[in-house]
Amino acid sequence: MNPPNPSPLLPGATIGMVGGGQLGRMFALEARRMGYRLVVLDPGDATPAAQFCDRHIQAPFEDVDACLELADVSDVVTLEWENADVATLRAMAERVQIHPSPDVLEVAQHRVREKDAARRLGVLTAEYRAVRSREELDEALREIGAPAILKTARMGYDGKGQAALHSLSDADAAWSAVSAQGDDFILEARVPFRMEVSVICARSASGETACFPVAENEHRRGILHLSVVPARVPEAVAAEARRVAAALAEGLGVVGLLAVEMFVDPDGRILMNEIAPRPHNSGHHTWEACGVSQFEQQLRAVCGLPLGDPALLRPAAMVNLMGEDAGTGLGRPGAARALAVPGTALHLYGKREARPGRKMGHLTVLADSADQAEARAREAWERIVAGG
Ligand code: AMP
Repeated sequence: MNPPNPSPLLPGATIGMVGGGQLGRMFALEARRMGYRLVVLDPGDATPAAQFCDRHIQAPFEDVDACLELADVSDVVTLEWENADVATLRAMAERVQIHPSPDVLEVAQHRVREKDAARRLGVLTAEYRAVRSREELDEALREIGAPAILKTARMGYDGKGQAALHSLSDADAAWSAVSAQGDDFILEARVPFRMEVSVICARSASGETACFPVAENEHRRGILHLSVVPARVPEAVAAEARRVAAALAEGLGVVGLLAVEMFVDPDGRILMNEIAPRPHNSGHHTWEACGVSQFEQQLRAVCGLPLGDPALLRPAAMVNLMGEDAGTGLGRPGAARALAVPGTALHLYGKREARPGRKMGHLTVLADSADQAEARAREAWERIVAGG
């Protein structure tokens, strides 16, 4: 066991949060439950987190003065949005502790740096090449071969800024689909994965780490749809996924949370796909299903408190409610019917407007087995989407 932090930030302290979406909202709920004050920086009006924080600095993330103000009113700053400007975060870090650090964010903001770091730490990834021009795409494609995926190196999440290449002749189409969306890119070999999994690892300043159980993830159109926990993989595969997440958190020096998305390849090997140094959609079930939620764990880690117990108390499944899902608009007529499915909990993020691709809420379902949790989550989702 690591020695306790001699000077943790105790309840009553003020936590600054960069980003005010649903991750910040769930963090805010936990922070307030535990007696902390919370100030959120977000450009939006009445964002999901602002509804539960003590103060909302409504300003763009590029507004340096607003960011410095957040630093000045906070005892520690953390974030739910990793694409904040690194130079601004560095200026903030001269005034207040920021967890995770700007150095970690610099890596996590860029898919090539992320994979370079993984390889340096001995973690497997898909074959990849950095691409900065149409000529480099041809060269990379010759080396990697098809099928492959061209992605923007920055600001890519939820499958945005990506184009699939099924053969070498798709280079033109892929380039014209993606090239306007960024300055630098990555070409990755398509992994014929057996399953997508993720692990969220918490790490405190004292070096204590704690991994949440492995989640098995199903995506739709590049966006997470369903997570089932525990992932239905052999224990050796689950152990390797946790080992990889902890190795990355330690190797990058993360203080806070590191979510690691991974592929399980046909040989049962773990390949890192992407990291996010913040709470993650695939960890929402932890609210009901684990000894500590990912949001409380983030708070504990950034405040220097002992980490909580991430153990899974019951098998769980989480399903997202998206803006395009009929019935998930305001009023949610199917909510009562969904809640009749045993073990179902409803989370709505307080977003006023339902738009396609927008995460409006989620359902978490607890059950006696992962299979049962999955079946019930699909049933609850059908009911809420069907409405009435
Ligand atoms: P990403 O934004 O990188 O998380 O990609 C979104 C989704 O696209 C992933 O969850 C996978 O389903 C798929 N994907 C991304 N990269 C690859 C890859 N190299 N091989 C196979 N599938 C991929």
